[in-house]
Amino acid sequence: GREWHLLSRPHGWPEPADFALVEAEVRAPGEGQVLVRNEYLSVDPYMRGRMSAAKSYVAPFELGKVMQGGAVGEVVASNAEGIAVGDRVLHFLGWREYAVVDAKNAVKVDPEAAPLSAYLGVLGMTGLTAYAGLLRTAAFKEGDSVFVSGAAGAVGSQVGQIAKLKGASRVIGSAGSDEKVELLVKEYGFDAAFNYRNGSVSEQLRDAAPDGIDVYFDNVGGDHLEAAIGSLNRDGRIAVCGMISVYNNTEPAPGPKNLARLIQTRGRIEGFLVGDHYDLQPQFVREVGPWVRSGELKYRETVVEGIENNLEAFLGVLRGDNTGKMIVKL
Ligand code: NDP
Repeated sequence: GREWHLLSRPHGWPEPADFALVEAEVRAPGEGQVLVRNEYLSVDPYMRGRMSAAKSYVAPFELGKVMQGGAVGEVVASNAEGIAVGDRVLHFLGWREYAVVDAKNAVKVDPEAAPLSAYLGVLGMTGLTAYAGLLRTAAFKEGDSVFVSGAAGAVGSQVGQIAKLKGASRVIGSAGSDEKVELLVKEYGFDAAFNYRNGSVSEQLRDAAPDGIDVYFDNVGGDHLEAAIGSLNRDGRIAVCGMISVYNNTEPAPGPKNLARLIQTRGRIEGFLVGDHYDLQPQFVREVGPWVRSGELKYRETVVEGIENNLEAFLGVLRGDNTGKMIVKL
């Protein structure tokens, strides 16, 4: 089976030469392990962080070794109790065609209940990120006006729709193309949306939210965060989920110039990591699962085929090639 290795740590934007697709031997599973033929791989912005050596909440990818990431696949050999050949499992050994997974790190998923790729996106990690960040970190309540950046992406599209379904007074999104903006308003039911490439984020946000915002769900950082502070209402809350606009910077980005507004507004900015909120997973699936099945919550995926295109798919997420969750189908 083939697998993607990290050869050198990218400086700025990752280059194809930093990676290699390598043929690896397919091992038989040891005691308590299963062999999985991966069917869907996840590529996510946070993987850029693991390509760097900087100390973080999760160890850097090792040079000359296979990378990791969310994946769903079919068990083709089992040496573990409770998991049978033919079962589908969610696990963390992506970026490869075949994975030997410890059974304790494999979660069985039901291919009848949802398409397998959904366990990586709308019903998986990115979905829970949206749910936990909006409801817990940002302490969303009915009647709030909500702004979300990266709004046509996996997390952002779900944040906006959950806010609407839970009674937001107004939901505003930003994205990087006019097609994405149209999708937000026409398909996902956002009240307003704008293309951040078309002009000043602050001005476009003020036009879209003349009465200000109570919640900002930040996926982008930079100008977006500054604009959100500028439009924040009294007791506003900002949940910092991601700052994709700075992930490839080689110098630290300047911070927002208007932080003093937090004093007037009694505003709060708080970062969060989905990994701390898995206690919400059952509640998330109970509440959001039916919305997905009924079509009240819509989602898209951008699906790239083939292990050889796994790297391009990852780079595509950083560029904005995706609408909704970026998935690699093997
Ligand atoms: P997305 O599906 O949103 O894909 C990333 C999107 O970011 C692209 O489609 C692109 O859309 C946008 N983007 C890229 N560069 C820029 C830029 N310079 N300025 C504005 N937008 C940009 O990815 P996810 O939904 O998986 O992740 C969204 C965010 O959430 C990321 O910041 C990620 O790191 C973070 N995250 C955090 C987690 C946590 O636990 N805190 C967990 C999961 C994700 P466009 O065309 O609109 O530019």
